[in-house]
Amino acid sequence: MNDKGLIFDIKRDSSEDGPGIRTTVFFKGCPLSCVWCQNPEGKKFLPEPDVHGDVIGTWYSVDELMYRLRQDKPFFISTGGGVTLSGGEPTLQMDFASRLLQALKREGIHTALETGGFFQYQAFKEKMLPWLDLIYFDIKLIDAVESKQYCGRSSQRILENFSRLIAEASIPVIPRIPLIPDITATEQNLKGIAAFLDRHGVKSCELMPYNPLWIGKLEKLGITPGYQRASYMTSAEKKACVDHFIK
Ligand code: SF4
Repeated sequence: MNDKGLIFDIKRDSSEDGPGIRTTVFFKGCPLSCVWCQNPEGKKFLPEPDVHGDVIGTWYSVDELMYRLRQDKPFFISTGGGVTLSGGEPTLQMDFASRLLQALKREGIHTALETGGFFQYQAFKEKMLPWLDLIYFDIKLIDAVESKQYCGRSSQRILENFSRLIAEASIPVIPRIPLIPDITATEQNLKGIAAFLDRHGVKSCELMPYNPLWIGKLEKLGITPGYQRASYMTSAEKKACVDHFIK
């Protein structure tokens, strides 16, 4: 299976994962383990059954994926869209992602990546960065201990990777901050992230308000959620978060 990639969803007509109309490819497997993960079916790097016995995760060759992605090319061209690699964590399947990105660029298709930032920088720089047009880089928790507690890994490598990318990449690297009430959406964490971005000269970022729909997905997988918040954030909660980033 080494020459194939494990994919758990392909979402067409997406307008949230980059410019224009996009098709988003969801890579299965993630080195992090966030307690609020919105795509819990994408965490494990292996095909797995849901509670109905349906298998989640399909192995694709680059040619098989390109056959599907190519069908949306007219929409990409007419809207300035393209293909976004998401997950899970695409960098976990670095060699496959590299070959897919190269195939997309050979056909002139705009490429974007959504990443949690936990990867080996040098390999990423050589295998993926040259064929990317845009990166959305999640920054969740600034504190190393809290990051380990809530995401399973220290934030150290993630923050180092972000710093290097901002310094070296010639493409837009957009920080995205998921707002998770009582975890990431705290005054201490958001102030810490705002100061970190400020130190790197980053003038804008995207705040992603909490979405509770993932809890239903977990039930479908037969898993008890490790974080309980069934409601959307209130306007006041969202405003309090935004205020930390306005000077
Ligand atoms: S990095 Fe993203 S996909 Fe991975 S566990 Fe965290 S929220 Fe889920």
